[in-house]
Amino acid sequence: MAAEIIDGKAIAKSVREELAVEVEQLKSDAGVTPGLAVVLVGEDPASKVYVRNKHRACERVGINTRDIRMSAEASHEEVMEQVHNLNEDPDIHGILVQLPTPEQVDDEEIINAIDPAKDVDGFHPISMGKLLTGQPEMVPCTPRGVMRMLESTGVELSGKEAVIVGRSNIVGKPQALLLMYEHCTPTICHSRTRDMTEHISRADILVAAAGMPQMITGDMIKPGAVVIDVGINRLDDGSLVGDVDFDSAKEVAGAITPVPGGVGPMTIAMLLDNTVRAAKNSACCC
Ligand code: NDP
Repeated sequence: MAAEIIDGKAIAKSVREELAVEVEQLKSDAGVTPGLAVVLVGEDPASKVYVRNKHRACERVGINTRDIRMSAEASHEEVMEQVHNLNEDPDIHGILVQLPTPEQVDDEEIINAIDPAKDVDGFHPISMGKLLTGQPEMVPCTPRGVMRMLESTGVELSGKEAVIVGRSNIVGKPQALLLMYEHCTPTICHSRTRDMTEHISRADILVAAAGMPQMITGDMIKPGAVVIDVGINRLDDGSLVGDVDFDSAKEVAGAITPVPGGVGPMTIAMLLDNTVRAAKNSACCC
């Protein structure tokens, strides 16, 4: 039987609808309008598209956005200064520096300079540490979005085998933690994993985040598994595909996300959610 398709666009829309109500309430109750600043250094076309989509999504729910464009030649110090200014700005509750930045800018130092209370990407070591120690505040958007999608399937997570392919700070590692907190047994695979196929074949929940086009095929997947495809890969013909071969996988999986229209919209929805949380926290502290 063909898999249920987990519609990221539809789930993201319902998240935005809930957030729009919360934003209105925050405005009327506390006089606070959530504000997100997005810093884009350079002219990378893909980054420009991501940034535009983030601004549009913010507008839809009533979040103010500030678009900060810096030239590809901007120095590390100039980007740091921008972050420091935004840290001090009371109208800005979330700061996002679109990565990667040009070579001369040290991404790690930039992330570490963001006020953890405004770290809506959840990449700051304090945000990561809180997640690791079970006191999550700002959780990275993509893994959070994946959890919302899993929730939408109604599948019981407790006790399930979860396999995550990829161990990055922004997806794989936090994903494993979030799944563990829902009482799954997570296994993280990476480029040195010896028999990845064997691991994948045991997965009740599979999260693919390697950035390898269509690497996981239907014959590798456990029948009935929930398959979440985080990967976004552009093929030579211009089309976008995930890390999972959707056509073969959907014949075996119980539920599966498409690419595009799966995790991508949820990542943005969770960015909005983190921004609204940050604004609420700031309103509580005033
Ligand atoms: P990274 O490049 O930081 O990490 C990729 C991970 O995959 C690494 O841990 C790497 O292992 C592992 N990997 C690479 N090749 C293989 C392989 N053949 N077998 C097993 N593991 C492998 O990528 P990100 O985590 O940033 O992103 C992963 C994918 O998700 C990309 O396609 C990216 O575009 C997409 N993405 C999508 C988002 C969305 O909103 N939909 C958001 C963020 C990312 P090792 O550590 O050993 O090198």
